[in-house]
Amino acid sequence: MRHVNVGLFVPHNGCPHQCSFCNQKTISGHTAQVTAEDVDSAAMTAIKNPDSVGGEIAFFGGSFTAIDRKTMLELLSAAYKYVENKSFKGIRISTRPDAIDNEICDILKRYGVTAVELGAQSMNDKVLSMNRRGHTANDVVNASNLLKSRGFELGLQMMTGLYGSTDEDSIETAEKIIELQPDTVRIYPTVVLEGTQLAELYRSGEYVPQTIENAADLCAKLLMMFHKNNIKVIRTGLHSGGNVEEGFVAGAYHPAFKELCDGKIYLTLALDYIKRNPLPKGRINIYVSPSAISQMTGQKKKNIIALAELGYDARVIADSTIPKYDLSIRNEIL
Ligand code: SF4
Repeated sequence: MRHVNVGLFVPHNGCPHQCSFCNQKTISGHTAQVTAEDVDSAAMTAIKNPDSVGGEIAFFGGSFTAIDRKTMLELLSAAYKYVENKSFKGIRISTRPDAIDNEICDILKRYGVTAVELGAQSMNDKVLSMNRRGHTANDVVNASNLLKSRGFELGLQMMTGLYGSTDEDSIETAEKIIELQPDTVRIYPTVVLEGTQLAELYRSGEYVPQTIENAADLCAKLLMMFHKNNIKVIRTGLHSGGNVEEGFVAGAYHPAFKELCDGKIYLTLALDYIKRNPLPKGRINIYVSPSAISQMTGQKKKNIIALAELGYDARVIADSTIPKYDLSIRNEIL
């Protein structure tokens, strides 16, 4: 069953930071604070859908535990009554790594929060500082360990292509995130939005964003790293909609970014397989899990074309015994 989650974006109008990529200062003037009534209205609408049972109420926005305490408690209390009456299974919030301590954990526990996502963004202090995050990698380690020890589901978010960042430090960030053993990860390639420091750096030539192609190559590697370590990646690339399209200046934004990464992963898997098990050129059948047919085929049949250029006439066949990010290739004629 597909559970219906309620998502509420909580703007942090009073945020004392100004991260290089964030345009909240630009949009906050137009973004009303979410109220307890908004929580009620969203929850009541979702409850009408039978799939909402087992879903969660999620407060997005990145700084939930750093907003003013009165607003935070009003929102939690509005959401908690739907957890108490079992309409939803829990509450999920996202926040900054330096806005977590024991007192905050006590409050979150009291109001039925089950999952906390931290915006780690990078585990490299130089990159964090160049992007004016206002916290260190050590803050991520401390907050992650505290949240896990208090029994919260832990989510970590990382970004690629930040100002001053390289592919190597993104891979090191992923390695350090894996050491922290989060339950979930989100990967966001940097997108330059109007009204941000990055937009100025980009226009002055000081900052060169990743291309979509480079970002997809890197994120394909990161996805495999998390997959091999049994860490679930619940999002890769910014959601389409919202203010991304209208504020877009430059960077690795593609509405089907995850599909691009998966296409690259499956082509690499197929090429590795052929390298390890040399097959005569000509017809091959590639067996993948039923949900991976389009990823193995690639957007606009990109992977089939790449294999054809190597002399392989590839057919992609669904096989429910094959797990995600795996395949088998045979050169039989069916
Ligand atoms: S991303 Fe940075 S500037 Fe934007 S709300 Fe979060 S902490 Fe504040």
